[in-house]
Amino acid sequence: MIAKIREKLKQDPVFPNESASFLYLIRVTLLLMFVYYLIAGIFVLIAGGGEATTNYLSIIIFVASALNLLLLYLSYKLRAGTVLYCLLILSAAVSFILTGGFGWRASFHYILYALLFVFWYNPLDGIKAKMVSSVLVGLVICIISLRTPIGITLFDENDIRQRIIIYVNLTYSVMLLSVVAYFYCTQYIEAERKLHLYNKELKKLSETDSLTKLNNRRFAEDELAELEQKYEDDGEAFCIAMADIDHFKNVNDNYGHDAGDYILVRLAGFFRKLMKERGFVVRWGGEEFLFAFTDVNGDDAKILLNDLRIEIENTDFVFKGQHIHVTVTFGLEEYDRYSGMQAAIKTADEKLYMGKENGRNQVVF
Ligand code: GH3
Ligand code: MG
Ligand code: MG
Repeated sequence: MIAKIREKLKQDPVFPNESASFLYLIRVTLLLMFVYYLIAGIFVLIAGGGEATTNYLSIIIFVASALNLLLLYLSYKLRAGTVLYCLLILSAAVSFILTGGFGWRASFHYILYALLFVFWYNPLDGIKAKMVSSVLVGLVICIISLRTPIGITLFDENDIRQRIIIYVNLTYSVMLLSVVAYFYCTQYIEAERKLHLYNKELKKLSETDSLTKLNNRRFAEDELAELEQKYEDDGEAFCIAMADIDHFKNVNDNYGHDAGDYILVRLAGFFRKLMKERGFVVRWGGEEFLFAFTDVNGDDAKILLNDLRIEIENTDFVFKGQHIHVTVTFGLEEYDRYSGMQAAIKTADEKLYMGKENGRNQVVF
């Protein structure tokens, strides 16, 4: 049960650039607030003994509890920052009402101090936004204090000096809390930032072919699924081509494996240039490449690939003084929503095979 709740609270943010741990903290806070107000409401209801004022206050507390639950629900749909500001407004309003009812010493405003730490925990907000939030929280606490008589102290409660002392102290404690929060947050934020960076780098590495520096099959599989979705959403057509170097084994046998590698790298350069702003190309396997043309129909893709084929055929590749000639065969297929992606790749592959059978160095569409 507890593990299930924890898992639910930890559910990833819907918005891609949000911090999961920040959202988790907000949800935990909301859950605690919900339970706290629920228990407080029951206590006030019972302890009040049916008196009208306490009945009224307990209703306010129950409503606050329900609103916290609602915010918890909304945290799965809205941005974390939006939920946090709603929580601040809700807590400020409830503290304001309850402080009026129970007095300052009941300490309903202390929740706002805790929220301060939640604001400072956000790794995505800058220092400026956090300072503004801190000032806001301080201001809210000052306003809440207006609801209650100050009590007997050195100065008379109507004496302006007394007010000054209180407001200065409140402001100062908020500032001090913010400074402390700043120090404990920066370390964690830096760690989170580095982790984010490393993850990005790792992802890039895992999607890149180390020899040709083209993207690899893993990358293509994700991208193709995205293209398919785009086609569903806004009908953006695309086509798939498979390419295979002709008699590549001979290149390795005649000029050496390094020469074969060199050819792969050079061809990758040609492919990358062709596909720039037209879609993407990946190294699908050993000497096979997959092209995805977005917003280009089959006829136009065939012209592009044929020009590329001729350019490669006419290129004199020189590796350590050896002149190497290679040709490439292509199979091209337009994506069709009814047969799907796997079918498009398979057909492109079959057409490539047909091209090989028919003498290689050609584009089959
Ligand atoms: P076909 O025209 O029918 O495609 O003939 P092929 O010789 O290209 O086909 P085959 O599949 O028999 O040979 C592919 C060769 O590609 C065999 C393999 O050693 C070579 N190869 C695959 N990956 C690499 C690589 O990373 N570097 C080098 N140098 N060779 C590779
Ligand atoms: Mg092959
Ligand atoms: Mg081959």
